[in-house]
Amino acid sequence: AYQSVGLHLDPERITGVLLDLDGRVRLRSTRRVAEGASPEAVVGALTRTVHHLVRRSEAGDGRVLGVGLAVPGPLDDTHRRVFSPPNLPGWTEVPLADLVQERAGLPVVMDNDATAAAIGERWAGGVERAGSFVYVYLGSGVGVGVVLGDQVYRGISNNAGEVGHLPTGTGKECACGKRGCLEAYCSMRAVVGEWAAAGGDGADAAVSDVYQRICRDAAQGDTAAARLLRQAASRLGQTLATVVSVLDVDRVVLGGPALRHAGEIIRERVRKVLHAQVWAAGVRPVEVHSALIGEDAGAVGAASLVLDHAYSPRLAN
Ligand code: BGC
Ligand code: ZN
Repeated sequence: AYQSVGLHLDPERITGVLLDLDGRVRLRSTRRVAEGASPEAVVGALTRTVHHLVRRSEAGDGRVLGVGLAVPGPLDDTHRRVFSPPNLPGWTEVPLADLVQERAGLPVVMDNDATAAAIGERWAGGVERAGSFVYVYLGSGVGVGVVLGDQVYRGISNNAGEVGHLPTGTGKECACGKRGCLEAYCSMRAVVGEWAAAGGDGADAAVSDVYQRICRDAAQGDTAAARLLRQAASRLGQTLATVVSVLDVDRVVLGGPALRHAGEIIRERVRKVLHAQVWAAGVRPVEVHSALIGEDAGAVGAASLVLDHAYSPRLAN
C-alpha cells in the first residue's frame, strides 16, 4: 500500500509519522533536538527518522511516496529554504527541503508548521473541521494556520499567519531580535523565562519540562503559576481577536505542546478574551476548540502534503 512520511521539526523535538493514504497513522517516532542544534545535526536526525519509517513501511509491504516536512517559519518557499526561524538560532537561509531530499533519497515538500498542523486537523477532523477556522500552534513559538472555506490559505509568499512577531507590548525581548512580540509573552519559553525571573526552579532543564512543571503546579493550586499561564493566554487571546475579526472565522483551534500541558487554562482564558474583544461577538459567535490530533498534527499534515503535492502544481519544485 502507498504511504507517506510526515516530519515535524519543532525546536525541541522531531516527530515523524508514517501515514496511510486513508489517513491512518501507522507508526510514529520522536526524537529530541538538542538546544542550539546545527542544521547538519538536524538534517541527520530528520533523515534517520525517514529511514526508520521507510524500513518499517517496506517490512509491512508499504511503499513510501514522499516526505512532507513541517518547520517553523518564515519560509522562502520558492527556494525551499527556512529563512531565519527565531527559535532555531543561527539558522539563516537553510535549504532544508533539498538537504533532506538528497540525504533521504525521496521527494520532500515543506510547509510552515502551523499551516501543516491546520492541514492535519482538516485531514483528520471531518465535519468538525470543515469550513473556516484558524489553527494556533503554541510551543517554543506561536504561529497560525489559516483555513478559509475548506481551503488552506498560504498567502502570497506562503507565510500567512505569522502573528508571533507582531507587537503586543513594549519591552520584552524576543528571540527574533525585536521587542514586544506576542511570542515574547506567550510562548512556552516566555512563560518559563518569567518563572525563572520570579525565582522559580529549573533554569537548567529543557523548556518543555519546566513548562510542564509550571502547569502541574497551577493545576495543584499554585496561584502564581496559574497567573503566569493566564497572562500568557490573555496576550494570545488579544492577537487572536484581531485575527478572528479580520478573517471572520467561527472557530479557533488551539494546539501544540503548550496545550497538552495547560490546555484548560489557556482555552478558558482565550475564550474569555475573544468574547470580550471580538467586534460584533454577538453576531458571529466564535468557538474555541482543542486540536483533535494533538501533537501529531504537524507531522500528519506534513504527510498529507505529499498527496497535495501530486495534485497542486503550485507546490511542485
Ligand atoms: C515562527 C512561525 C511558527 C511558530 C511556531 C514562530 O516563531 O515565526 O513561523 O509557526 O514560531 O513554531
Ligand atoms: Zn519576535
